[in-house]
Amino acid sequence: MTGKMLHLLKKIFGTQQTRLVKRYFRIVKKINDKAEEFKNLTDDELRGKTAEFKKRLESGETTDSLLVEAYAVVKNVCKRLSGTEIHVSGYNQKWDMVPYDVQLVGAIAMHYGAIAEMQTGEGKTLTSAMPLYLNALTGKPVHLVTVNDYLAKRDAEWIGSIFKWLGLSVAVLTNQTPTEKRRELYLADIVYGTASEFGFDYLRDNSMATTKEHQCQRGYYFAIIDEVDSILIDEARTPLIISGPAAVSRQMYDTLKEPVFEMVKLQRDECNKLASEARRILEKLKLLEDQTESLKLTKEEDLELQEALKKLWLVSKGTPINKILKKIRENPDLRARLDLLETYYWGDQNKEERLEALSKLFIIVDERNNEYELTDLGIKNWKGDQNAFTMLDLGHEYHLIDQNMALSSQEKMEKKVALREADSLRKETSHNVRQLFRAHLLMEKDVDYIIHEGKIVIIDENTGRPQPGRRFSDGLHQAIEAKENVAIQKETQTYATITLQNYFRLYSHLAGMTGTAITEAQELKEIYKIDVLEIPTHKKCQRADQNDEIYMTEREKYNALVKEITEIHEKGRPILIGTESVEISEKLSRILKAQKLPHTVLNAKQNDKEAEIIAAAGQRGAITVSTNMAGRGTDIKLGEGVAALGGLHVIGTSRHQSRRIDRQLRGRSGRQGDPGSSKFYVSFEDSLMRLFASNKLTTILQKFRPPEGEAISAPILNRSIETAQKRIEQRNYTIRKHTLEFDDVMNRHRSEVYNFRNEILHTEDLLPITSDILETFCTSLSEPYFQSKAEENGWLPEEYRKSLMTHFPVSLDEDLFSDDKLTIEEIETIAAKKIVSAFREKMKREAEMVAIMQMLGEKEPNPLPLIQNVIRSLLIQSIDKQWQEHLLAIDHLRTEVSMRTVAQKDPLIEFKHEAFALFDKFSRKVRSDISHLLFAFGIAIPNTPDMKKAISQMRIMGLPPKIKNSIDNLKLLS
Ligand code: ADP
Ligand code: MG
Repeated sequence: MTGKMLHLLKKIFGTQQTRLVKRYFRIVKKINDKAEEFKNLTDDELRGKTAEFKKRLESGETTDSLLVEAYAVVKNVCKRLSGTEIHVSGYNQKWDMVPYDVQLVGAIAMHYGAIAEMQTGEGKTLTSAMPLYLNALTGKPVHLVTVNDYLAKRDAEWIGSIFKWLGLSVAVLTNQTPTEKRRELYLADIVYGTASEFGFDYLRDNSMATTKEHQCQRGYYFAIIDEVDSILIDEARTPLIISGPAAVSRQMYDTLKEPVFEMVKLQRDECNKLASEARRILEKLKLLEDQTESLKLTKEEDLELQEALKKLWLVSKGTPINKILKKIRENPDLRARLDLLETYYWGDQNKEERLEALSKLFIIVDERNNEYELTDLGIKNWKGDQNAFTMLDLGHEYHLIDQNMALSSQEKMEKKVALREADSLRKETSHNVRQLFRAHLLMEKDVDYIIHEGKIVIIDENTGRPQPGRRFSDGLHQAIEAKENVAIQKETQTYATITLQNYFRLYSHLAGMTGTAITEAQELKEIYKIDVLEIPTHKKCQRADQNDEIYMTEREKYNALVKEITEIHEKGRPILIGTESVEISEKLSRILKAQKLPHTVLNAKQNDKEAEIIAAAGQRGAITVSTNMAGRGTDIKLGEGVAALGGLHVIGTSRHQSRRIDRQLRGRSGRQGDPGSSKFYVSFEDSLMRLFASNKLTTILQKFRPPEGEAISAPILNRSIETAQKRIEQRNYTIRKHTLEFDDVMNRHRSEVYNFRNEILHTEDLLPITSDILETFCTSLSEPYFQSKAEENGWLPEEYRKSLMTHFPVSLDEDLFSDDKLTIEEIETIAAKKIVSAFREKMKREAEMVAIMQMLGEKEPNPLPLIQNVIRSLLIQSIDKQWQEHLLAIDHLRTEVSMRTVAQKDPLIEFKHEAFALFDKFSRKVRSDISHLLFAFGIAIPNTPDMKKAISQMRIMGLPPKIKNSIDNLKLLS
């Protein structure tokens, strides 16, 4: 797209936004007028509005038509609460909030299903109160989704005072909420909780609850997601999974970790050797001494240099974060020559030369695409299981078996089965090896994960938060455990899984709020069908966002950072420093300590005190080092006199991969018209620049080469940083979309199964369902026997009869299907009728027994509910068991399919196709399993003399008429 077009689009987009905001301001006026009017109501009259609204909704009004009045009521309640004490997060606070007009605009936007983009400190928590109240009037489930338990509790206590005042109930769902309390909790009008709590309850309700009383949720009507980008975008990369130990384990990480480790070491030694050789040459050429002197070399010297560069280039492909390489790249001229070489190697005519050079490595690492590849040399030196790198050609092997005349058909079958086993074992080996290499080459300790109490804990890339309990999928977590020599967790099996995206699609109405969504507006629109609306701030933003300071090296960047921190700290201004990882936050902390600068560190390793630390970050002289976005949702208020000094200064120690995260950090300062400032520091050694900035930059660098310690300023640099960020955002979007596309395939199947399961849990009388299943099963059994009457062996009613009798303990007359005039449909109907009525007979017998038992126990005989419950749990158990097996098959399929990319097939299409076939298999299996079980179950009758006597007595006298009638109804039903 050309710049001009983009500008034009922005303009159209912009005006659309402005028009909407204008329209909402007109509604705000109406709300304010109404609020004036309501001022005259007594407290009780105002409270009475809740009941009035509910009644009006029942008689046909809509939430849309009630909006103005409902919001005016909330505004009035806020006024009346003013000055009262409320208890929030452990201490008392005076209520001092009455919604501003811009908050009303945000509240309107959310009711109409938008994401309200409101800057940090604008008061989103209060804003959400209005749409929550309005929608809860329907009596349907209304949820507010927060980023952590602390905020769920805080906001429910804080804003809950409004709802309670108005007679609505509020509840908080946290990780600590016991399972047995949840059902009652969800009955509340408005429930606050985190996305994973809501999501996991959904999964538990649908995969573990065995009666409807064990299900806790009551539906999905309206949800507002706070910090919506964090939840729908950052957290959306890993799905929610409920898992348990797998029945059989196929993993081999333990035995494979040694050979992988050896290979990685081989490569590292080789690259170190290459790098040292290169350094020696460069030293000899005196190229490492003076960085500002341009290269003036003789022809021979230049050849030597070229030799050294080639070695370094190889190092960059083998171990991209080699120290010597890093040092050499600090020299802009050498850096330029290296880039040149890279371009040279990628020229078509130089492909041979490139491949020749690369063949000296064992592994080629592609940091940018997060991939790697073993070379032939690597495979040759592989000390582990040789089968890891060669796959079987099953088609060919089957063909050979088929052609082998010496084998009986039974032997052929056995051979094929054995071959398939061997094939799947190889695939698993190869998969384990791949994941182990990935763990070694592409996953970094303290960046991607930390080790906590002997466990590998994921660190969220964007929030820097540890995610205990979550695991990298697909065996990668086990591979990292193997790499770090901690206990490798047993292979687990998925019981239930869903992506957050698909969970939130369950809601009839979804809205959100955050300070940063506009950069991801397109994705949010595409996936969730929600628009982002930028809400104007209450007061004009006074924050001064300064230009980035860009340095050649990290060293210079840190020097500059410390200088700036010292200067600003001396003035007494508080400083918040955002870092990209735990590792960097600790490194910076060490530097600050060395400089005797008192500071607080807030990172993934200690997020308990998060809110407290963040809240104190605005005090005079405070220095707070934090990983990106830690403490989201907590407001940084300025201490006394701080505004006069210039407010909070925010420093970013590098640009994040996503612009949104940078904006989030900036937004910490300058809230509600406060003064403040922000600045980012960047170096050419930052991974963002190293991996994603274009080669053009190097050329620029050569021109603008600054003396040591001085920042480079060229407007073009700012633009290329943004370009690099956009590129990664795009890539991450693709990854999220990919996860979702795979889950979408599952989603249809999942909802089908969950719906069926729910129907079973919520239907009193299961006879119609069981009859349906039996009928369908009878029909599916007939398939092989009735092809065509004309064909030889195409019409086999007798075989069908026998088949039915092997599946059901039922005897069928020999001539049942023998009438030649019968059509296949008629035959199936006859069969189904027989089987269903046999089942009812069985039910009747069971019911009689139960009735007798109940009477002996001196209970009012009422056998049917008990029998229904037995059947219910039998159906549920069967569905759950088969579904779990299905999910396991799907897991394996996913692994397998991902390896087919090598064969140039589209894994998603392959996956869709085969997942469908697996689902079909699953449905058949469920039907046959249930059909068998329905005839196999029996209620255990105590074998006591009393019981025996009672039974024989009843046989003679018959059952008491009351029981008899109820049981005979079983027959009438059909
Ligand atoms: P956000 O979530 O938008 O970052 P919060 O909801 O945490 O902001 O609110 C930030 C601060 O602004 C809180 O301390 C709150 O008390 C205050 N606040 C919000 N709305 C109002 C209001 N209408 N009047 C006065 N103070 C408000
Ligand atoms: Mg907030």
